[in-house]
Amino acid sequence: MGCKLGAGWSGRILCNFVYILCTFTAISLLLFMFCAWHQQESLSLPKGDYESSIATRWKRYTINPLGYKWDHLNLTYKIVKFPNTLNKADTQKAIEIAFRMWSRVSPLTFHSVQPHHDADLKIGFYTFNHSDCWFSSLHPCFDGLNGELAHAFLPPRGEIHFDNHEFWVLGPSRFSWKQGVWYNDLVQVAAHEIGHALGLWHSNDVRALMHPNATQTRTRYLAQDDIWAIQRLYKFPHNVTAPKKVKVKSRYVPIGQSITFHCKQKVHQPLQRISWYKDGSRLRSSVPGLVISSPSILVIQANEVTRGRYTCVIHKDRAIIGGKAWQLHLLEE
Ligand code: ZN
Ligand code: ZN
Repeated sequence: MGCKLGAGWSGRILCNFVYILCTFTAISLLLFMFCAWHQQESLSLPKGDYESSIATRWKRYTINPLGYKWDHLNLTYKIVKFPNTLNKADTQKAIEIAFRMWSRVSPLTFHSVQPHHDADLKIGFYTFNHSDCWFSSLHPCFDGLNGELAHAFLPPRGEIHFDNHEFWVLGPSRFSWKQGVWYNDLVQVAAHEIGHALGLWHSNDVRALMHPNATQTRTRYLAQDDIWAIQRLYKFPHNVTAPKKVKVKSRYVPIGQSITFHCKQKVHQPLQRISWYKDGSRLRSSVPGLVISSPSILVIQANEVTRGRYTCVIHKDRAIIGGKAWQLHLLEE
């Protein structure tokens, strides 16, 4: 265990039925091939969400091709069936941490409700034959220990099912020599499945939590690609590409060299805040190649991934009081 792969045979069919299947397995080389296939499928899906041909070079995420998403941002969830291998408190904690990973980087909020209330997202731990199998023979049932760990449905169904035959833990996945089984990191798997239940498909970026192999690579946190994906689907009200009347300055930088962008006003105003954007998506923290060294300074290493348009927006209270924009071009040898 500890390896998560793309859709298996049933998922391969089901992807066409707006059903997201995540298969996690430890062993099969054959399934590796499916995984590769699945990535190809993700890349070949029609996409209307790319800004330009340049953007496709670094954007690896995929939003479900039919554009299913929640029509409200204040989502509710409930756990309708708890696992056998993890206590209630730790299960609730793991699910809460997983939701927080997405709420921290998006305008979405998640509140847990009691089981007798309606909820947008419904979470349960099931064994072989659960509701999916009853609807259609195309829906997969869980497969016992190992293999498939979990699967989720796109909005508006928003259900997340975990295999109750797995051993779930609050903490990193690891092999238990004592029991001879894999303990699966519930936070990580839940965060990945929540991504699907919010409308995201798999990413082709190996660093992304939405990559089909995220369990294998032990990715436990959202990568910039995941953040761009969720912010593309659910925009912050103030998500702007460039303040009006700001001239975009072109900068030509040799590949591998760094460039520093300063976002400063002539007169510094107290209590101002600065937000950085790359091609319209908010940069919330430093990522490889993009370092926000102080609120007003962004240092960029020029390469294929970092080329694009950078914008800084200076806010005071809710008003935009200034900003700058640069287009980073690569100077090839
Ligand atoms: Zn998945
Ligand atoms: Zn299910």
